[in-house]
Amino acid sequence: MPSHAEQKIADLIERFIKDSRSTAQPDMASYLAHCPRGMESQLTEALETIKLILECRYQPSASDELVDEGISRLEVLRAKKQRFEKIEDALDPVVEASRHPIEAICNLLGWRKAAQASTPSHGCLLPAHAGVMYRGRGGGSGQATDWLLWNAQLESRERTLCDRAESLLRKTFTDLQAPVDVATLASRLYLSIKDAELEGFDGCLVSDGEVGAIVVNKASTNMQRRRYTIGHEIAHFVLHKPSLKARGFFRDGMGDFLNFDCSDWSEESEANIFASYLLIPSMLFAEDLGCTKPTFADVERIAHEFDVSLAAAARRLIRASNWRSCVVVSSNGEVIWHALSQQFDGWQRPWKNLKDGTAAKLLTLPGTKDHLAEQMPAAFWFEGAVASEQVEVLEESKRLGDSYIYSLLTVVE
Ligand SMILES: [Zn+2]
Repeated sequence: MPSHAEQKIADLIERFIKDSRSTAQPDMASYLAHCPRGMESQLTEALETIKLILECRYQPSASDELVDEGISRLEVLRAKKQRFEKIEDALDPVVEASRHPIEAICNLLGWRKAAQASTPSHGCLLPAHAGVMYRGRGGGSGQATDWLLWNAQLESRERTLCDRAESLLRKTFTDLQAPVDVATLASRLYLSIKDAELEGFDGCLVSDGEVGAIVVNKASTNMQRRRYTIGHEIAHFVLHKPSLKARGFFRDGMGDFLNFDCSDWSEESEANIFASYLLIPSMLFAEDLGCTKPTFADVERIAHEFDVSLAAAARRLIRASNWRSCVVVSSNGEVIWHALSQQFDGWQRPWKNLKDGTAAKLLTLPGTKDHLAEQMPAAFWFEGAVASEQVEVLEESKRLGDSYIYSLLTVVE
């Protein structure tokens, strides 16, 4: 017996076929509007395939090749679905019984390339020659022009990744809401999600580029971190098919998740930028937040609304900021991660070690409060050109847990 939702889908498909015979271009949206919740992408996939087949069948000019293409698309979909269901059914016991989940899933997929871990990574979205320009920085009359071009390339790269993440969301969800349902998104892409004991890393994606599994380290109990891991692995699946086909998996630890450095042109920074727009998409994010100076109250509100970590929320807010703003995460007096707003031009970065006079340095001392705000010369924080401008920065710093201090910095213009 088909379920109520399946029956509803079958009815919609039948209506679509009837309408297609009487109308030239039936409006997809009107069928999706009646689709049972959570089944929108299956219905879209089915209607598009049927549309192709019907176009072929009922157009006298349709070639045999087009008819074949429609039929083979259906077959590919069916085969992919069957393989996914097989993996879903078999995954738990196989992963449970194995000390090497990646290998176990590779075997299950019939994919035996797991051992080839040294395959060089490739498949970045933009040309690697841009990195040459970056290395060429450092003086000369062309420096300013190079920088403008360089910044424009980095912005365009981030924009491309943002567009791809958001187009995936639009295709998958007709009524997208925060927090974004990454588990449903994974299953629509034929990616199963499993927990397993992983030694030395937090998450991995095992796939042949068609179907696969995201494995999350059992030890990682933080829900926001888990959601981020899933978003990051979805990004690899969508963006990096050539690497997946070559080696069969991605394996990620904390260092990979912290890499947002567009300028390294790596697959890891691409996956992080994609994941950040997947979890906090523009369609749901109040971009006008960028007009006011970033505050922790904003960061915490975003983190709560989108169910993401404070670091992910802070980076998203900073990238939307119309101010010269920066978020810095430090531990034991050392800066471990930072992100700058797009308003910073040229080469800027915070000092590697916290300087005396900053609120963050004060917070490292025992017995201080957890939260401080101060205004100080930009040179206390930055080693780039902004330090020589004699401007000041407004700093808001907060201690989180035992070992991390988050600082929001905004140049006072
Ligand atoms: Zn990765």
